[in-house]
Amino acid sequence: MESPPGAGARPRIVRCPQCGGSSVYAPDNAFRPFCSERCRLIDLGQWATDGYRIPVEEQDKGLDPEKD
Ligand SMILES: [Zn+2]
Repeated sequence: MESPPGAGARPRIVRCPQCGGSSVYAPDNAFRPFCSERCRLIDLGQWATDGYRIPVEEQDKGLDPEKD
C-alpha cells in the first residue's frame, strides 16, 4: 500500500537535539526538532549567551573580607 500524497500527516518522531528524548517532528510541534519549549530555550541560550555558565566557586572565598 502506498500513502497518497498530501494525506501523510503522520507525525514523525525524531530525537531531541537537547535532551535526546523523543520529539514529534510535525507542524503541531512548534518547538521541533526539540521536544519541548524548555529544550528549545536551553539550546538557544547556549549559543546566544556563550559563557553564561561561569564557575562561581572562587567568588565566595577570600574576596569579601568584610563578611567575617
Ligand atoms: Zn528535549
